[in-house]
Amino acid sequence: MRFNKGRRYTYYSSYSSSRRKRIRWDRIAIIGVVVALIIGALVWFNLSRLKLLFKGYSFSQQNEILALDGKQIDEILSHDKMSHIEDWIATSQNVEYYDEYEKYFSIHKDLKVKVVVTTVDDIFNNYVPQLTGLGYTNDQIWQLLKTASASDLKYLLDKQYTYSQIQPYMQVKGYVLTDMEKYMQVYAEKKNYNYAVLITTYPFIISENKATQTYTIQNPDDILTLVKKGFQLADSYVPSDLVKPNIPVAPDCDNSMMRKEAAEALEEMYNEAKGLGYNLVINSAYRSYADQKKTYDDYFKRYDEVTAASLVALPGASEHQTGLSVDLTSTSVIQKKAKGDVAVFGDSEEGKWVEKNAYRFGFILRFPLAQSAITGIGNEPWHFRYVGKEAAQKIHDNHWLLEEYCLYEGVIPNIKENK
Ligand SMILES: [Zn+2]
Repeated sequence: MRFNKGRRYTYYSSYSSSRRKRIRWDRIAIIGVVVALIIGALVWFNLSRLKLLFKGYSFSQQNEILALDGKQIDEILSHDKMSHIEDWIATSQNVEYYDEYEKYFSIHKDLKVKVVVTTVDDIFNNYVPQLTGLGYTNDQIWQLLKTASASDLKYLLDKQYTYSQIQPYMQVKGYVLTDMEKYMQVYAEKKNYNYAVLITTYPFIISENKATQTYTIQNPDDILTLVKKGFQLADSYVPSDLVKPNIPVAPDCDNSMMRKEAAEALEEMYNEAKGLGYNLVINSAYRSYADQKKTYDDYFKRYDEVTAASLVALPGASEHQTGLSVDLTSTSVIQKKAKGDVAVFGDSEEGKWVEKNAYRFGFILRFPLAQSAITGIGNEPWHFRYVGKEAAQKIHDNHWLLEEYCLYEGVIPNIKENK
């Protein structure tokens, strides 16, 4: 039995069975290779047709395209959708620009097909070769084309500005290519790209330059928002987190509310001052657009327009509407005034201490006497603006105004031009 079993085993496994198996595997391998070759060849020869099918071309359109030479087929295959290609074909003979049409269209989606074609034809025939000659790479040209018009490119070529010359200014929000010469003039003096662009685009940030255009601030909750004539708050803007700081208020104080963050910082300053024997008091803090308008109109009735404007901020242009500003006074000043004496917070011990220390709590003296040409507001030794500790430290260290901080650091509000 053992022998037989062994024989049977040997017989089946190592002879008959294994020979049959070996033959089967060879066949499968050969068939497999052949099938793979056939499928590969089919796919290879019809890949273009398959791609065209997926892009939405009909069978007869596929035939038409496949009859073109290889380069043209590749060109058509490099585009997303059939409908675009049909547009380019119907509008332009310049097959070599189909890529450019497609790319330009993808960054200027609101343009009509015809405008895309004429613009790209103009730019790529008349300006791109010269820009390339000036050392501009393809990527850099496309970077420009996100915003630049043909006349912008002509300006660059007339001035012979290289990409590395203009690139730092292009990083600044609100840059205008054709102002590049002015930017470079300012840069020569200020050595700061943000400053160069922003003061050129928004000259009124420095108030001795008149605001000929005004803008409405779109992000008024930002604690760094620059509010002044030119950059104004909407009449509907009311901060959502106004609170009443736990600090005494003057008898004639209209409103002592402030944004929560500013109120807490002011309480911190109040407490430290109190520990030194200085009793700070709030004279005025949040003021609504309507309140500011009422005050402005009152002044307007009493004085001429120029005088009124110099004494009180235009509605929407007052920092008090942000809930980040506070007019301070002190118990000592209030007591002196009650006796009929002349007393100004800025001259008091408390005022001097606040002026020196406010930055540690995130506040800045917003309208110093010496710089009223920049702020547009006369001496207000009582008016402090919350900007947060980081900005206040920087403003303190550089002896800046908020205007200068915004210009050098490139921090301007998100704005919408008023028509
Ligand atoms: Zn004030």
